[in-house]
Amino acid sequence: MTMKKKPRGRLFFANPGPTNIPDSILHAQAHFTVDFMDADFIELYNHCFDGLKKVIKTNQHLFFYAGSGHAAWEASLVNLFSPKDRILIVETGHFSDKWGEMATALGLDVVTVAAEWNKGIDYAAVQAALVADSGHAIKAVCCVHNETSTGMVLDIPRVRAAMDGAKHPALLLADTISSLGSLDFRMDEWGVDCAVGGSQKGLMLPTGLSFTAISDKALKAHQVSTCPKHYFNWTVMLARPHKSFLGTVPTSFFFGLKESLRLLLEEEGMANVVSRHARLGEAVRRAVQHWSGNQGPRLFCTDPTRYSDSVTAVKMPEGFNAEDVRKTALSRFNVSLGGGLSKLSGQVFRIGHMGDLNEPMILGTLSVVEMALKINGVPHASGGVDAAISYLAEQG
Ligand code: PLP
Repeated sequence: MTMKKKPRGRLFFANPGPTNIPDSILHAQAHFTVDFMDADFIELYNHCFDGLKKVIKTNQHLFFYAGSGHAAWEASLVNLFSPKDRILIVETGHFSDKWGEMATALGLDVVTVAAEWNKGIDYAAVQAALVADSGHAIKAVCCVHNETSTGMVLDIPRVRAAMDGAKHPALLLADTISSLGSLDFRMDEWGVDCAVGGSQKGLMLPTGLSFTAISDKALKAHQVSTCPKHYFNWTVMLARPHKSFLGTVPTSFFFGLKESLRLLLEEEGMANVVSRHARLGEAVRRAVQHWSGNQGPRLFCTDPTRYSDSVTAVKMPEGFNAEDVRKTALSRFNVSLGGGLSKLSGQVFRIGHMGDLNEPMILGTLSVVEMALKINGVPHASGGVDAAISYLAEQG
């Protein structure tokens, strides 16, 4: 029998979601079955409900779904709109495209403010599109706070300012799937009406629980929405004991979520979580910027004000395939990097730096990337890892 050679050691996960799950969450989630109507469980559930609202920074409404981020995307669309309603998608990359595709499939009329993926949206163009819509046909502006495919962050307060500047009453929807629990996000302060989130990134949980936080204004819009819906119907959910879930509640997630919230809100504190991501994100960028010497790989994002602190997309030099680097990292060193999505396939690989992550994990990942560049003969300036070390050593 021939044995398949597999690298030793735990899979080193540097993919931008799902992310590493801390052992304490794994243990918490490995809980025996409980009755979801049991008073102790309801107490734990309510604790999670309130705690997650603290992470989202909202005092308004919250609905959970047994499903990945796509479920929460769909719930946001079918609960807020009616067939043929017009929504405006702010183009950021693969994920804004996919949300728009879903809306079209659900019978909505999707208009897009286009952007070059490596430069990002012109906020004035968003305002101009809203000013031009004097009849207020546009019911919502949908944007992805952190575009996981490009490693770029969108300034949500600037989108809000564009809407306010146009005196437009549309709802503001923000996908926070790869930002929540890693980057600063403030639903109520920023005037977001629907924040869409998922379990498997900054919250450090397995994939399969998602949620939407909803403003009072959005709940009013829901009351006149006629898109067909049932499992995701907020009105039906509100009548249920957990104010979510028409069927069985996935209880194990809530044992995990309680521990996740303890880590984020009590043990580390959200401000420290955000600054840790900023520090580690900058270390990754320092390494990539160094490698870009000798015509090497470079940062895909060309606007430093839009760098994401939770994921970095690395653009390969002409004639080199990002998949080769990714495959070498995985097959030889057991490090999982993200690949390029849709039109970026083969052109970029992505380093995730979100969730349960520290300096040695980042430096290990960067070392493997540098080795994989060497092994594949990709031109670069060697010493990117040293650049990251020098930067991290200087931080308090
Ligand atoms: N939105 C963003 C920004 C994402 O990064 C992802 C997944 O990576 C999704 C939406 C889709 O979520 P899911 O894969 O959990 O369905």
